[in-house]
Amino acid sequence: MPTHIHDTTVITCVGAEPVVLEAHSVVFDGNRITQVGPVDEVGAALRDTPGVTRIDGSHHLVIPGLINTHHHLYQTLTRGLACVQDAELFDWLTALYTRWRHIDHHAVKLAAQVSIAELLLSGCTTTSDHFYIFPQGTDARIESVLEAADALGMRIHACRGSMSVGESGGGLPPDDCVQEEGDILRDCERAIDTWHDADPLAMRRIDLAPCSPFSISPELLRETATFARERGVLLHTHAAETKDEEVYCLEKFGMRPIPYLGECGWLRPDVPGTACIWTTRTRRCWPRRRRASPIVRVRTCGWGAARRAS
Ligand SMILES: [Zn+2]
Repeated sequence: MPTHIHDTTVITCVGAEPVVLEAHSVVFDGNRITQVGPVDEVGAALRDTPGVTRIDGSHHLVIPGLINTHHHLYQTLTRGLACVQDAELFDWLTALYTRWRHIDHHAVKLAAQVSIAELLLSGCTTTSDHFYIFPQGTDARIESVLEAADALGMRIHACRGSMSVGESGGGLPPDDCVQEEGDILRDCERAIDTWHDADPLAMRRIDLAPCSPFSISPELLRETATFARERGVLLHTHAAETKDEEVYCLEKFGMRPIPYLGECGWLRPDVPGTACIWTTRTRRCWPRRRRASPIVRVRTCGWGAARRAS
């Protein structure tokens, strides 16, 4: 049954231009907007429509739902810990892994509910979530996040993240916070088979999201990219977050993070890279040197960058 927001002010965009539409009405049915128009026009169109729920919008603004392109919903559990307030990224992660190794389904679902409620209250109706830590023995799964989103009505790109290189392999995370690569790929397949919805109006999609160059092998990066493209799902990862990461990549792979991702088949338009903060002139040039290839999209978390002073 349609819902009619009657006589409101709509702030939206027409093309790239912002517009303010006074004395307009909005009609939606399910999760599709079916009409936006002047009050009289919409009223006439609905005159013979039964079962319309009418909402008085005269004291409200209506805006398109905001989209959050990167989040770690579970990290609400450890937000504001004093012991890491001044830490840079690697120290921040190293300290928090010792807490995160204890997460379980209940904790992740609860944190996701809190985070999603905050997002909804700020006008966000679609979020991405990069959930990448599955400690050994935990019952936390991608479902922990999906159940929270479903309960609160949030549209979500749930990124099945991954970490496979622990301290013993030269990575940053403790060994009990990483998974075997075969187990990761099998669970990625399970998540897509079970939960991914490719419908244009889908409320739930699965993306594949290796965490970072310092917690993933090049083989898993390549295999994840190949698998995601076979299945038609998006990819997602962190890149060039800090100087520490650059040093790590130069020492371990002999190249900086962005060229390294290119070597692993990740510089494609289906990859929204997150962070991409620690840039050099050389790295900023890479799109031009690869002009024949589409350019990866970049999304930066301003809060996270400011928090880490990176
Ligand atoms: Zn992140």
